[in-house]
Amino acid sequence: MPADHSVAGDRGFATLQTLQTRVGAQTDAGRVRRHNEDAFGFREPTDAAEADARGSLYIVADGMGGHVAGEVASRLAVETILGAYRRDDSSLEQALRAAIEAASLRIRLQAEATPEQVGMGTTCVCAVVRGNELYLAHVGDSRAYLLRDGQLRRLTRDHTWVQEQVAQQLLDDEAAARHPMRNVLTQALGGPSVEVELTRHELQPDDLLLLCTDGLTDALDDARIGEILTGQREPQGTCAELVQQANEAGGRDNITTLVISMRASSAPSEGDLQSGDRGVDPANRRRGHLSVVPIAAMGLVLFGLLVGLVWEVRPSLAPAPSTPVETIQVPSENTATATPSPTTTPLPTTTPLPTATPGRTPTVAAPIPTPGA
Ligand code: CA
Repeated sequence: MPADHSVAGDRGFATLQTLQTRVGAQTDAGRVRRHNEDAFGFREPTDAAEADARGSLYIVADGMGGHVAGEVASRLAVETILGAYRRDDSSLEQALRAAIEAASLRIRLQAEATPEQVGMGTTCVCAVVRGNELYLAHVGDSRAYLLRDGQLRRLTRDHTWVQEQVAQQLLDDEAAARHPMRNVLTQALGGPSVEVELTRHELQPDDLLLLCTDGLTDALDDARIGEILTGQREPQGTCAELVQQANEAGGRDNITTLVISMRASSAPSEGDLQSGDRGVDPANRRRGHLSVVPIAAMGLVLFGLLVGLVWEVRPSLAPAPSTPVETIQVPSENTATATPSPTTTPLPTTTPLPTATPGRTPTVAAPIPTPGA
């Protein structure tokens, strides 16, 4: 499936409609690997100025390297990108690109200075949601998908050797998905040079955005991922279901999913009522029911406006934090989920273990002759 590079004009979208985002995330070692080298993190600022300038940033990374180096690399990527992006006051796109490049350099320098981490690297896929704008930046084969109107679209193009063969029409998508070299990357953070691929898209209410590692996409095809996303409405439950299904399909790799749901910040839709019935949070359910209260009940309407206002400023998941929400999850156990926290969550300590199975080839692939298409 080709990457979608449809973007709006240079000056941004005509209507910067505010979309309420809700996020869920889960990472899991899978059923075969002893270590989880994936990581995720996100930052949802509640400060209006920061939100206007920077939006919310979501990251998924898939580390690679011997011993625990893969875990180190993915954690460094998430931590560095979150920090560098926030501190950079250049344009959003420049800041995002620069943050990823800074992460790559940091990983490379640390690898050069630490013998047991030589050759470590990581993928990353980053999403920034600002108003109804979506910016995606990625290196490697961690992916972003968008579910809209029941249709799943892949928004990123893998930086893999097989994807290059597909681009040259030497392999088709199906053959690429089964190819023994499908996990060989053409670039990764920590490598000698990275070329960040950055695209911009317009979001709509009820869109569902998925960021994930190849532990999910190797286990489940796009059709199955689309079915699971369509069948669920609540981000954390969706993530858990994706991870469970990938594990049931073998769980041969670490699995990370991060799902962001968008909803209009104004009037709730019929879908909101339905999702409320499926067990979304009480604040949303209450608001949905208020939308059907007769207009004559003026007191209740005023109450509804008040509740709506609270919902407007309420960040996803977390109970009205007064500081920006920043969460970084690097699994110190086999499974980690997004823990909504009103404060910055410190990195869990990773415990070095004596042996490790490398997640995959830690080196970036050089171009390889085509083995008979
Ligand atoms: Ca992986």
